Amino acid sequence: MLIDTHCHLHFDAFDADRDAVIARAREFDVKYLVNVGTDPATNEAAWKLSESDPFIFHTAGLHPHHSNEITDEGFTELEKFVEEKDPYAIGEIGLDYFKSEASPEIQKKRFIQMIALALRRELPVIVHSRNAFDDTLAILKSEGKGKLKGVMHCFSYDTESLKKLLDIGFLASFTCNLTFKNAGALLDVAKVVPLDRMMLETDSPYLAPQIYRGKRNEPACLTHLAQYLAELRGVDVETLKRHTSDNAVRFFDLPPYHES
Ligand SMILES: [Zn+2]
Ligand SMILES: [Zn+2]
Repeated sequence: MLIDTHCHLHFDAFDADRDAVIARAREFDVKYLVNVGTDPATNEAAWKLSESDPFIFHTAGLHPHHSNEITDEGFTELEKFVEEKDPYAIGEIGLDYFKSEASPEIQKKRFIQMIALALRRELPVIVHSRNAFDDTLAILKSEGKGKLKGVMHCFSYDTESLKKLLDIGFLASFTCNLTFKNAGALLDVAKVVPLDRMMLETDSPYLAPQIYRGKRNEPACLTHLAQYLAELRGVDVETLKRHTSDNAVRFFDLPPYHES
């Protein structure tokens, strides 16, 4: 089986056919879905959706793009929400210096606060980082204090950065952008990540694979990514599926899977 470790099924892109999308994921062997929140409203929506389905797992985050939209009171509410709803991870959180309306200062402030929250709750973090590797790594090191467990989602940096990330015990997760014609150097990175330090995700509704490029992505497309990555690495697809799923179960502390 496969686990989509990062999707946003609660986004309105799925309002018209959410149940069909979830059913299709199962048909294509994507049994567990980790549904990722990005701000207070989507954290709530992600949690609600997870309540309706035992194979959907919610997280609570504050995306860097939304880091400037929350007041200190709002942040306290978010902390309360995490205590009450007990998400499977804190994320996505991080830094994004590519076309963000939020300043680096406010992004860093909220990122640091969210890491502290994850450590307090003993939860792993899902990190979003774009054009900001050095700052991201520095904060993960200084604030994580060697105790923080995390994944860098939609990994899009180079092999050297990957090594630094692995050195602090983090995992890397890959999306269908690996299948893009212009994936280039990212393919070299995806080849060298140890099998036990890697997870797969769609980041649906974003980043549809090359064959559906420009369209809405959905968890069922994870099978394309698994197939593509298995061929790239010269491993059997079932081996790749088993390793990446085991990693995800361990990382998020998910229940063992049983066919219903
Ligand atoms: Zn992201
Ligand atoms: Zn995302």
